[in-house]
Amino acid sequence: MNAGETLESYLGGAWVRGQGVETELVNPSNGDVLTSASAKGLDLQSALAHARDKGGRALRALSYAERAKLLGAVADVLAANRARYEETAIANSGNTKIDAAIDIDGGIGTLKYYARLAAPLGEARALIDEKPVRLAKAENFQAIHMLVPRHGVAVHINAFNFPSWGLWEKAACTLLAGMPMLAKPASATCLLSQQMVRDVIAAKVLPEGALSLLCGGIGDLLDHVIADDVIAFTGSSATANRIVANPNVLARGARVNVEADSINAALLAPGVAAATPAFDAFIKEVAREMTVKAGQKCTAIRRVFVPAQQANAVTDALAARLAKTTVGDPRDEKTRMGPLVNRAQQAAALAGIARLAREAQFVTGSPQAPRLDGIDGEKSAFVAPTLLKAGDGAGSALHDTEVFGPCATLIPYQNEAEAFALVARGGGSLVASVYGEDRDFLARAVTELGALHGRVLAVEPSIADAHTGHGIVMPQCHHGGPGRAGNGAELGGLYGLRFYHQRVAVQGSTELLGTLQATAAALK
Ligand code: NAP
Repeated sequence: MNAGETLESYLGGAWVRGQGVETELVNPSNGDVLTSASAKGLDLQSALAHARDKGGRALRALSYAERAKLLGAVADVLAANRARYEETAIANSGNTKIDAAIDIDGGIGTLKYYARLAAPLGEARALIDEKPVRLAKAENFQAIHMLVPRHGVAVHINAFNFPSWGLWEKAACTLLAGMPMLAKPASATCLLSQQMVRDVIAAKVLPEGALSLLCGGIGDLLDHVIADDVIAFTGSSATANRIVANPNVLARGARVNVEADSINAALLAPGVAAATPAFDAFIKEVAREMTVKAGQKCTAIRRVFVPAQQANAVTDALAARLAKTTVGDPRDEKTRMGPLVNRAQQAAALAGIARLAREAQFVTGSPQAPRLDGIDGEKSAFVAPTLLKAGDGAGSALHDTEVFGPCATLIPYQNEAEAFALVARGGGSLVASVYGEDRDFLARAVTELGALHGRVLAVEPSIADAHTGHGIVMPQCHHGGPGRAGNGAELGGLYGLRFYHQRVAVQGSTELLGTLQATAAALK
């Protein structure tokens, strides 16, 4: 990579460079500038038109099984270049190798999963949602619901923390559904997305126009979307609010999916004694969620609810575990947690920690950046693993501050009803996890917490070592939370294709519906 050159975007079937510098991409361990991004002066209206005309037509001409093969081919290209991507993730995102694997392998794995899932859909080019229903006395007049691919472009606007997974988890459902995509990764980490797209374009495994990439700011992109297009956004709720309020998006009625921030919770069930499998699984998961990717996961545990009687035991166990987390430059083999992605994120995280500290006490960490051997504190973006402990759950910052870093707050509760009520104060989150031995309690927790979460992980001793983790998004499962989390819906197997299709109720003769059923694939 050449620090002097602005990254190119792939638009309208060509690599093009924006003017000047909008964002510098840095190594957050030492402040070195790696490259820069700019979308200034790029013709985004023509780029959208090109994707719609060329990519959309080409993809819709293919069957689901043929599109599934395309996903497999993309995954193969990425897998072949994985080592280079890992270097970039370490340099530009401050990732450890494990962090990089979650992002890179998560993206490749999601593509492969959808390639396998869709292969049996065969020659179909549309999906049938439900069985036909009779509408009138006449038996030969019926209705059926179909999903047909939308004719626009899927505009993907992604967050900085998953430049690979965020790109490919959206791409998998989009391309499979027969829609072309224009991806706009977050500027701060778009180098990895750009390298991956460059390799896929060079390998010519996708039809022209199916995949476009914008490296740089959003510019006037949203002023050119039309009713056929969809926008899939991942990022902060503040940006989400700006997107849904964009006058053109509103006027055109472009469909928007929002995956925003959330104040996810982990809950230790009442009556779980220290040093039991459920207790240990809880401690392990909370510590892991705080430190993996330096806490920069939308799904990371931010609030830790414990029975008041167990608050001290949990505090001690978590503090002991966090003390073993070696923080430093991720190029060092001994490092277990790297920096945040840049100094702006560091400043935002430290400000959030200071806000939480008005309602809770520090167990580990502080509102200042840590001093680390061999690291220049003026140029790097480190935040220490920070655990706070509140006296009770009465404060408001505890429930509405998303510190996007290695920070969580322990909150004691007195009884089950209070525990559920406190978790709900997050206002809608992506995921809650519950740890306990009493299956009746776990079942009640699923119903109570499920109302305000997109996913609930219930850990009992039998799956303590087998579960996939609180923060890991599995493509088989729904991803997206209500309320503050944006009300989005992604992934969840074939369900994830719905956003990129139009659901249409077809009313017609039984014979016509039979013909449609014979050529389309059943969704379930
Ligand atoms: P962000 O600041 O909201 O940015 C997200 C994306 O929006 C970036 O690509 C950004 O581009 C773009 N953007 C900025 N201003 C825009 C505008 N006016 N119109 C349209 N797009 C605009 O979020 P972030 O800091 O990258 O990511 C961290 C946040 O994402 C956290 O709050 C986290 O919880 C959330 N997140 C959620 C999920 C989920 O699945 N729910 C996953 C990951 C992260 P530039 O980078 O060029 O400014």
